[in-house]
Amino acid sequence: MGRLKDRVIVITGAAMGLGYAAALESAKNGAILSLVDYNGESLEKAKSDILQQYPDTRILTVVADVSDEVAVKKYVDETVREFGTIHGFYNNAGIEGRQASMVEYDLDVFKKVVDINLMGVYYGMRYIIPIMQQQSYGRIVNVASVGGIRGVMNQTPYVATKHAVSGITKNAALEYGRFGIQTNAIAPGAILTPMVAEAFRQVNPSDPKAAEAEYAAANPTKRLGLPEEVGKLVVFLLSEDCSYVNGQTIAIDGGQSNSY
Ligand code: NAD
Repeated sequence: MGRLKDRVIVITGAAMGLGYAAALESAKNGAILSLVDYNGESLEKAKSDILQQYPDTRILTVVADVSDEVAVKKYVDETVREFGTIHGFYNNAGIEGRQASMVEYDLDVFKKVVDINLMGVYYGMRYIIPIMQQQSYGRIVNVASVGGIRGVMNQTPYVATKHAVSGITKNAALEYGRFGIQTNAIAPGAILTPMVAEAFRQVNPSDPKAAEAEYAAANPTKRLGLPEEVGKLVVFLLSEDCSYVNGQTIAIDGGQSNSY
């Protein structure tokens, strides 16, 4: 197994959840990793957990907030200084914000969701695409959501920013496809990560497991997804095997989006 052998892959939000799962799957496939997160402690733990399973993996960690343009440039520069270039970019860091109706939504939280989920995704592309252009090769995987395909009650900024991620993905495909850069987005449904566990706690604080069971009941596969299942899709989209899929938003949700 070496779909990403010796490929330099940058992953944001790599300390836990979908970012960590993709990092682990990438290491399994021979990648060289630049892992970015604003939670330095968890990031170091992620690195040591990966090294325990795949001890030969070359891993750089960079503590950075993706909503800070200067910090984004820094993680890109540090990666290139350490590993020479960047072949793949898993543009994953994101937050959900709060559950509140549109007009009651806290404005500061709204702006924070936009800064991380939209501007953070854009800054990463702004600084990594030129490096990929120089080598006429690149694979970018942005993280949208099923909330980037449809509406979700009480999550206006999340839905708005995830639709924007899908849009930015289409434009990158149009503008940079001719440079050997394929850009796609994934749209996970409910995948059991810390972020989703927190959402179930907000929906039903006294019984989050009941909220989880209710959500799973509506899914054609009758369960939530696993982070490693998303990791496998991401590795395909980051690899040379993904040679003619460009500008797509691919749902990974057990089929649930077919019934909206
Ligand atoms: P998570 O909360 O479990 O992990 C997110 C990671 O990103 C954490 O390590 C966190 O420290 C980091 N992070 C958050 N904001 C950051 C910032 N500004 N700068 C740097 N690092 C930051 O979340 P997750 O469930 O793994 O979600 C990852 C991505 O997948 C998000 O974009 C999310 O919207 C998307 N997503 C997740 C699901 C799901 O079911 N888990 C569904 C749809 C979309």
